[in-house]
Amino acid sequence: MGVYPGIKETGFYQLRHILSYENNRENTSRLKKNYHFKEHAMPNKQIPIQDGLFTWPSDNPRLIGSKCGHCGEVTFPAQKSCAACCFQDSENIELSREGKLWTWTIQGFPPKSPPYARPETPETFVPYGVGYVELPEGVRVETRLTQNDPEKLKIGMTMQLVIEKFAEDDQGNELMSFFFKPVEEGG
Ligand SMILES: [Zn+2]
Repeated sequence: MGVYPGIKETGFYQLRHILSYENNRENTSRLKKNYHFKEHAMPNKQIPIQDGLFTWPSDNPRLIGSKCGHCGEVTFPAQKSCAACCFQDSENIELSREGKLWTWTIQGFPPKSPPYARPETPETFVPYGVGYVELPEGVRVETRLTQNDPEKLKIGMTMQLVIEKFAEDDQGNELMSFFFKPVEEGG
C-alpha cells in the first residue's frame, strides 16, 4: 500500500520535473529570442563624428560642401557665409567622391589633446596619413588618409572618399568619419 504514494510522488515529481524542464527550456529559448531580438534591434550604431559633414548612412556617401551663389566659391565643410566674398548666399552641395592628392604627410605622433580627442594612448598610437585632396569642384579637403605608408602615397594620385570607423564611444557605437584612400590604378 505504501508503494502507491511513492509511485504517485515519483510521478508527480517527474511531472513537475518535466514541467519545470519544459518551462526552463521555454524560458531559455525565450531568453535567447530576446537576446537575439536585442542584438538585431539594437546593433552598435554607426554615428557620424559630426552632423553635416557627409551623407550617412549611404552606399555612395558624399562630403557635403557649400557653394556661394554670388561668387561660386566652394567650401568644405559647408558654411553659411562665403569666406571669399562674405555674401550669405551659399547652398549645400554634395561633392565628388574622387579627387587628386594635393599634398600629404604622415602624422607620426599623437596630436595634442585637446583639441584632438582620441581614444589611443602614446603606446597604442599608430601613425596615420593626413593630406589635402583637391576635388573637381575646386575645393581642397583636409582629410585623414587610409594609407600611412609613405611609399604608397604620391602627390597627384587619385583618391576616393570612404567612410570608416574613427573611434568608439562609451556605448560601443562606432563613430564614423571620412577618409580618402588611394585608388588602385591599372589593376
Ligand atoms: Zn562668395
